[in-house]
Amino acid sequence: MSSKPVVGRFAPTPSGRMHLGNVFAALIAWASVRSRDGEMVLRMEDLDTQRTSGEFAQVLREDLNWLGLTYDRETPAQSLRSGAYDQYFEQLRQMGLLYPCFCTRSQLHSVNAPHLSDGTYVYTGTCRNLTEEQRASFNRKPAWRVMVPDKVWEVEDRVQGHYELNLATDCGDMVVRRADGVYVYQLAVTVDDGEAGVTEVVRGMDLLSSAPRQMYLQELFGFPHPEYGHVPMLLAPDGRRLSKRDKDLDLGELRKRVTPEKLIGTLAHAAGLIDQNTALSARELAKEFSWDRLKGDSIFLDASDLL
Ligand code: GLU
Repeated sequence: MSSKPVVGRFAPTPSGRMHLGNVFAALIAWASVRSRDGEMVLRMEDLDTQRTSGEFAQVLREDLNWLGLTYDRETPAQSLRSGAYDQYFEQLRQMGLLYPCFCTRSQLHSVNAPHLSDGTYVYTGTCRNLTEEQRASFNRKPAWRVMVPDKVWEVEDRVQGHYELNLATDCGDMVVRRADGVYVYQLAVTVDDGEAGVTEVVRGMDLLSSAPRQMYLQELFGFPHPEYGHVPMLLAPDGRRLSKRDKDLDLGELRKRVTPEKLIGTLAHAAGLIDQNTALSARELAKEFSWDRLKGDSIFLDASDLL
């Protein structure tokens, strides 16, 4: 093991109460960092200002506190960071890697089928080689894409094992700034994690395909690659994915019915981290936390235990 200080992070989107899946990912992120006396950073991912709010951000902080998932510092919310993102965007421009893309959503969707697990479409490079004249002929603001190399990016994920993606064939040139000027998740996360010195990224399995995209941007910006751990999704016993739609399983409801220790014990047991389904605090879990025990595939959770 390296002696580098461990820095982990919570990166919630303040668009509602945490649901069980968010609680689970946050718990694992925290236990991993605290089991090695690391530091935990909180960052609000509120790029989508329509769906997020300062009130939800405040409730999230309280929910983390209720769970006992402490953090050492909070870095500025993404909605306040466009000045910082501008500088990295400028770096990409100076590297000659950016180009404007005028494709409409329907154009993008009509030629390609959804490809990656998060629904990303493979971009075939339509606007890569437009002439200045062609660019000027569009009467609208463009999105900006960064060119990606024909190279395989390999992730050794703590939970999912080996994963690889060739951005050129599996993703295509990536949008980094939308036509309305808002920077996209991939750029913002890379900059924020890099500047905060994050050494390990733990989040839901649905973001696994983002790791290679972020690794590419890390390399361009000169940030070291963090370690990755993409935790499995929680499923009901019938195989249905527990999601934000299960309103009775968000923390607003759960906090009325269970103690944090009961909730943490139930999740830790379902994930294979403890042998018996007994109540325990986040701190107690961190003491015996081991990545080797975490199940890599879906985790079945009988929510009636919590009702
Ligand atoms: N903001 C994302 C979410 O709430 C997490 C992004 C990340 O961890 O990189 O699902």
